[in-house]
Amino acid sequence: MPVPVLFHPACERHDPGVGHPERPERIGAVLQALRAGDMASVVEWREARPAARQAVERVHPASYLDGLERLAWQGGGVLDADTVMSGDSWEAALAAAGVAIAAVERGLERGAAFGATRPPGHHALAARAMGFCVINNAVVAARQAQHLGAARVLIVDWDVHHGNGTQALIEQDPSIRYVSMHQYPWYPGTGAEHERGVGNVFNVPRPPGLPREVYVRDLLAAVDRAIDGWRPDLLLVSAGFDSLIGDPLGGFTLEPEDVAHWTTAFRERVAPAPVVGVLEGGYRLDLLAAGVRAHVRALA
Ligand SMILES: [Zn+2]
Repeated sequence: MPVPVLFHPACERHDPGVGHPERPERIGAVLQALRAGDMASVVEWREARPAARQAVERVHPASYLDGLERLAWQGGGVLDADTVMSGDSWEAALAAAGVAIAAVERGLERGAAFGATRPPGHHALAARAMGFCVINNAVVAARQAQHLGAARVLIVDWDVHHGNGTQALIEQDPSIRYVSMHQYPWYPGTGAEHERGVGNVFNVPRPPGLPREVYVRDLLAAVDRAIDGWRPDLLLVSAGFDSLIGDPLGGFTLEPEDVAHWTTAFRERVAPAPVVGVLEGGYRLDLLAAGVRAHVRALA
């Protein structure tokens, strides 16, 4: 079955400046990889609508969003040491959140979907942009899923960085569980094993350079703990491909086939609940492309 792939042209227009690793070419590499001839029977393209303000305000206060919009109107500016808005970044951020929302909507209908989101989202806090992230796309999508009746949402984050924003936004809410494996200690510094929220947070901090099968096994073990006696209605993947071996911003040793294996294993574990991927990091274009292809193939 082809898998719906959600995209929006504005995601490419967020420009954090020359030399920034989270560059516009990332989304081009992702879309090009999925447009390859051998993916034609795997991918069903769907352009998303930008997120409605109301859907984003389930996660972020209006005052914060007003500030982002104003900054973009003024031509952009610096939000954080490594997070920069350009004139088109507000449009891009709403487009990315809309892509994540539409991926969840299609995924709930079809059993799987992938959202080509950019800028990424998992470091974004309620009222603070950080780590290249402005709006927390995954949590906005999770709230939309709940609005549509999927009461229990499991977010699994295999980006090499800890999703501190996602954790902070859900750690008091037992209706969402969050499993993250990440390099530790590493940016952003959070994600210790003892950070458990209300028992709904499952962190798997790991050093760089371990044999890849250790990472594969340990994330699956954490997912098994998270779903023990708790059946999610949706599994959302915060799919960061900076955990692949060779990424300049991380030291994990994963291969694209590991991502495919995880995706398949998640589907088996939570069936009949849908599995929806949302793009996070990944900073070497060839690895990003290979990782997304492997993930989307396994979703199909
Ligand atoms: Zn990352």
